[in-house]
Amino acid sequence: MAAVATPARPPLLIAPALPYPPPEVRAAPRDGAGVVLRAVLRGGPLARTALARATGLSPAAVSRHTAELIGLGLLRELPPVAGPPRAGRPQMPVEVDPAHHAACGVHIAVDMMTFTLVDLRGAVLAEERIRHRRSAGDVLGRIRSYLPGFLARRSRHRSVLGLGVVTGGWVDSERGTVVEHSLLGWRNVPVRQVLSAATRLPVHVDGHARALARAELLFGAGSGSAELVQLFVGNVVDAAIATGGGVLRGRSSGAGDIAHLPLGVPGPPCACGRSGCLQATVSEHTLGRRAFAEGLIERPDFALLLERALDGHPAALRMFRERLRMVGRAAALLLDVLNPELLVVAEAAVVHLPDLMADLHEEVAAHSHLCADPEHVVVPTSFGEQVLAVSAGAVVLDAVHRRPMELRTAGSA
Ligand SMILES: [Zn+2]
Repeated sequence: MAAVATPARPPLLIAPALPYPPPEVRAAPRDGAGVVLRAVLRGGPLARTALARATGLSPAAVSRHTAELIGLGLLRELPPVAGPPRAGRPQMPVEVDPAHHAACGVHIAVDMMTFTLVDLRGAVLAEERIRHRRSAGDVLGRIRSYLPGFLARRSRHRSVLGLGVVTGGWVDSERGTVVEHSLLGWRNVPVRQVLSAATRLPVHVDGHARALARAELLFGAGSGSAELVQLFVGNVVDAAIATGGGVLRGRSSGAGDIAHLPLGVPGPPCACGRSGCLQATVSEHTLGRRAFAEGLIERPDFALLLERALDGHPAALRMFRERLRMVGRAAALLLDVLNPELLVVAEAAVVHLPDLMADLHEEVAAHSHLCADPEHVVVPTSFGEQVLAVSAGAVVLDAVHRRPMELRTAGSA
């Protein structure tokens, strides 16, 4: 049996702190190592000849970048593929090495936050949830105090490439601030500044829909796609738009704000002063309150409503189906405006009650002028119950997979 060359233990690495995310809309130099790493992530294990074909890089460039990535512990070689003897050295395929590094993430929801560790392929290694009291001081303070113990318990000697912090609402990823999150009551919270100083990790801050779009492009349903729309329906409802393999931020980092999209049907009053806005109509908070008012659950708690639906309670199931119909109308509008290859939905029913996808598809078919095959275009999130955990890690992984050579050794200036 052929021995596999074992590289020396790779150095501890951390991801580049600034700028993040790369300004895709501006011209950026092509990072050959990143192109190779993403090709292996998408199609690996791959031999170097196949990598040259997949990337359009020269065999010499592929060999150089592959050696660099193996040296950083990002790729590893596999034993040569058995086959007829051929001239030259045997081909050693390479694959992404998930053993040495991890991305840490924190997803901030309205009442809970999720701490996570994710490997280079997007697999969730650890996930822990704690409650918080919504104020920025409380949330950031809890992250500071909880993170060291979480990493000590869960990182298992992996080097942590950075901390991703994601949440809903309006997030300026370039400055690393949450500009506005009305449900948390946050305005202009300098998340990266506070947490960089406290953790000494590179901190990447983004909206959770944009983070999920990046995850779908890297290792989910959108792998290999150029255009994708990510729809997120929780307490916050928002979207992200990926084009040309990058995710649109917009002039003021506000792209994808669909909370106040008018559905054109009577709906509950919204904080904006109108009624029938998408978020106010379909949010988990709204559904929980409605179910409580209708006597379906003993307190206004969305998780209880989901439990009822999973038990097959007809009225609970009806509420989820009605919600998916409303989501379908919003999806149809986005499909007509943007005409993406895929529209990915992260929502409780599509994760936990997949039979209900038919309602979503029917509503899209009834309202979209362009999308004739919603069952192929409108798909559930690739990450199931781990959707929050993956979104938080994905902002770090996106930086690593795009520009791996900007990783720097931990402790170096
Ligand atoms: Zn509104």
